[in-house]
Amino acid sequence: MSTVDQNQTSQYRQTIIIGSGTAGLSAAYQLQKLGCKSVFILEGSNRIGGRILTEYLDKDLTQPLEMGACWMHGLQENPVYELAQRENFPSHTGTILSFDIGTCVDEHGLQISSDLHHEVDEFFESLLQDTRDLFEYQQQNNTQISSTSIHKVFLEKFENFVNLNGGDQETRCLKLKLLQRRFDQETGECGCQSMEQVSYSEFGSYQRPKGPDMEFPCGYSTLIRFLCSQIPQNWIQFDQFVENILWDQNDRVHITCKNGNVYECDYVICTIPLAVMKWNYKSLFTPPLPTWKTEAIQKMDMGTVDKIYLFYDQLDFFTGDSLAIVYDREHDTLDIKKEWYKKIFLFQKVYDNVLLCWITGDEAIFCEQLDETYIGDTLTNLFRKSLKNPSIPTPTKVVRTQWFSNPCAKGSYSYVPVGASSWQHIQDLAKPLIFNNMSRVFFAGEHTHTRYYSTVTGAFITGQTQALYVAQQLISNNDTEMLAKANTDDFTKIQWKREVEPP
Ligand SMILES: Cc1cc2nc3c(=O)[nH]c(=O)nc-3n(C[C@H](O)[C@H](O)[C@H](O)COP(=O)(O)OP(=O)(O)OC[C@H]3O[C@@H](n4cnc5c(N)ncnc54)[C@H](O)[C@@H]3O)c2cc1C
Repeated sequence: MSTVDQNQTSQYRQTIIIGSGTAGLSAAYQLQKLGCKSVFILEGSNRIGGRILTEYLDKDLTQPLEMGACWMHGLQENPVYELAQRENFPSHTGTILSFDIGTCVDEHGLQISSDLHHEVDEFFESLLQDTRDLFEYQQQNNTQISSTSIHKVFLEKFENFVNLNGGDQETRCLKLKLLQRRFDQETGECGCQSMEQVSYSEFGSYQRPKGPDMEFPCGYSTLIRFLCSQIPQNWIQFDQFVENILWDQNDRVHITCKNGNVYECDYVICTIPLAVMKWNYKSLFTPPLPTWKTEAIQKMDMGTVDKIYLFYDQLDFFTGDSLAIVYDREHDTLDIKKEWYKKIFLFQKVYDNVLLCWITGDEAIFCEQLDETYIGDTLTNLFRKSLKNPSIPTPTKVVRTQWFSNPCAKGSYSYVPVGASSWQHIQDLAKPLIFNNMSRVFFAGEHTHTRYYSTVTGAFITGQTQALYVAQQLISNNDTEMLAKANTDDFTKIQWKREVEPP
């Protein structure tokens, strides 16, 4: 699709934001604060929030069940946390805040001592710390070690460690199984299929604001509802799945949606998730994207993390807050059809009667197509065997997420794979498209933040920043009212100074 049908009528707005997830709404909030009046948000689905989706167990919205994002990672100088505090978002406690293991068993019911799994986890944590130190060293010395995977390096180091401190053959074998579980857990942190995909030298590029993690008060949708409440409701246009962005026209950018609607604007902020762009970037942009942009889209990656919620009348059989099961597995391969559940790295009690199971990668994608009753039956058999309790009931309800099958997400969050560079490729994902010396198409979203990629915080910051870049263009066109607002509004000032004003 390269041209716009001349007979089609189009609607004009000065700025069009594609997507009403965190980045899109954060951009809209910023533009609204700067006094922009001519804005549309084109949302491909029928709801706001994107990869934030909170269901509630109660009518008062105090018992959230997060289908997508749950944690605020790091609270210090975290603009999302600052917003929640400034706007007095309601607070509550409920769900668990970490991947800490309570009970650990193998799939045949053998109880694994906490000393053993702590030993493995501590060693793994020390290797993770090494990757952060390595990344810092590379940055300081402007060097980069050759690209290999976290899995390869960690496995080698772990095997040496086990050879020195392993104990008898059975204990060594168990430690290697615990390592596999820990790798699987890390795929949940990274959003990938396997740690064989994740770059060792780049792993330390992922950072968080300092301080503890915290679940978002009263569910992450509180943030989405707040941002939405601050902008005119007629800005958001639902069911407008963007199929083409024609960006080399002298006058305006033309945007065509799947339903045939055409929009025109001066500036676009595109927050389409990386996995969606990987799938359709060739037809999404006319003319085709420059090579540096397509290379960044191809090199960076985004995988799938899904959640399965199991509901019970009572959870008597489940002691403690969480359960890790160590499976019999041949290395990193599974017969997905029969063994998909062996990728579940943790079961967490999130309410007195609700368990949350985490699953990633191809196994998560396979699970997305399974019947929910069948999922419940399979996991009941697993619990009965591994907890040695044949009377464990089947869940009364099973709810699982389908992030990969969602055409507006196609996965969960981004990571830096082997062969990619966070510095180069994420920056390239974030760079605007320029036509006739003017930045026309801006990019925001979690995948465009060089340090906080994969997170709500990253998405929020990039949305705000790109909105400020649009404002900068408007100000350079003599929008003095906007300049005055940019210099006085508290929310705007910090990011404006950090990102937009020349040092
Ligand atoms: C299971 C899961 C758990 C997570 N846990 C956490 C966590 O604990 N903490 C954390 O910080 N982050 C977490 N994340 C990641 C976090 O949710 C995302 O990083 C963040 O929400 C991304 O925001 P975004 O605006 O970049 O993208 P999105 O929220 O995906 O927004 C993009 C929007 O664009 C729309 N769209 C897509 N394609 C088109 C198109 N062609 N045309 C029009 N509209 C389109 C989508 O419908 C969507 O509304 C989790 C994600 C998942 C899936």
